Amino acid sequence: MSLTLSELPYAINALEPYISARTLEFHHGKHHAAYVTNANKLTAGTEWDQMQPEAVMRRIANEPKHAAVFNNVAQAWNHAFYWNCLKPHGGGKPTGRLAGMIDVDFGSYEKFIEELKNAGATQFGSGWAWLVLDGAKLRVVKTPNAGNPLADGLTPILTVDVWEHAYYLDYQNKRPDYLSAVVEHLINWEFAGSRLG
Ligand code: MN
Repeated sequence: MSLTLSELPYAINALEPYISARTLEFHHGKHHAAYVTNANKLTAGTEWDQMQPEAVMRRIANEPKHAAVFNNVAQAWNHAFYWNCLKPHGGGKPTGRLAGMIDVDFGSYEKFIEELKNAGATQFGSGWAWLVLDGAKLRVVKTPNAGNPLADGLTPILTVDVWEHAYYLDYQNKRPDYLSAVVEHLINWEFAGSRLG
């Protein structure tokens, strides 16, 4: 599979003051890097070596004996995806097709944001809040630990990492403040819209 640690798509301090360079140094340079290293170690020379990470995740998500492989492959994927979901001077309302779909499927942008923030805030322990496509319909879901909606046949459109390592240096225990900052200032709606295909 030979995953590589993708560069951040912006400078290490570009998300300040909402996510600090210090957080990204650890989150990207240590946590994400370790998932990539471990995913490569665990899949080298195995049946998963020649498969795309998405296919590996779909195949072994529900096989406890392969939990270590799933966790590291999924966390490598989830983090690369998360970096792309953020950008400096992002956040606020989406435009275009995604904006229209959000209005139809959630009732309004405000209701969607409430649901996304609630999913992130109520994920007990570590995990992820997601905007996904379920068939043709948008939904908000949350996954624990390394979970990824691909394993449930859903298409990830947007994610917010709610592991403590994503926000603790900047917000300590105030996860809802981190979620608000991401929503208001950092979401990369162009990237999310590109996921609609
Ligand atoms: Mn993380």
